[in-house]
Amino acid sequence: MTSIADNLQNIKSTLPANITLVAVSKTKPVSEILEAYNAGQRIFGENKVQEMAQKFETMPKDIQWHMIGHLQRNKVKYMAHFVDLIHGVDSLKTLKEINKQALKHERVINCLLQLKIAKEDTKFGLSFTEVENILNSEELKNLKNIHIKGVMGMASFTSDESIVRAEFKTLKNFFEKLKTINLFNCTPTTISMGMSGDYKLAIEEGSTMVRVGSAIFGHRNY
Ligand SMILES: *Cc1c(COP(=O)(O)O)cnc(C)c1O
Repeated sequence: MTSIADNLQNIKSTLPANITLVAVSKTKPVSEILEAYNAGQRIFGENKVQEMAQKFETMPKDIQWHMIGHLQRNKVKYMAHFVDLIHGVDSLKTLKEINKQALKHERVINCLLQLKIAKEDTKFGLSFTEVENILNSEELKNLKNIHIKGVMGMASFTSDESIVRAEFKTLKNFFEKLKTINLFNCTPTTISMGMSGDYKLAIEEGSTMVRVGSAIFGHRNY
């Protein structure tokens, strides 16, 4: 078995310099996250707010914590004081709640809009029309404590590479459209797509941020 540090090193050696690696540490103990930290990793992704908040309390404060999971609005308050980027934003209501909680801490919280690119019903996310409705809404213009930094998407779980590639392409094309929008709280620079099984494809299709868990930490036991 290879170590966490070795896995991290192997993955980083294949990533182009402009790609941000989010080490997905959900379900993993602090001791294993520290192994990655000691190997130089500073960005970690979690999918449960309380678990992330507990880890934030006990771990070095130069870690950037990313919320990558499906978000419940009533949980936003537990991470508003420290979260660095929220990947899974899928409604205007959630943006409003993030804005409200960020304001309490005098922060601006970075967000990505999650788009549904997979055909599977199990995947969360907005349709392209829904994103356009959010961006055109008057309410969005009042949200001074959020910053929309781009988009996030998850491809279908399939061994058919052409399907995964097509879904990533869709997200990349939408991102290019998003960049032409002129809003003070929306400056898209980030496409969060690609996980352990498909991050190489995602990078070929224009990803700027990959979320890799099991390829670094090994398989998860839920
Ligand atoms: C768990 C998770 C990942 C990482 O998955 P791996 O296959 O272990 O790399 C990436 N993104 C999201 C949204 C996740 O929930």
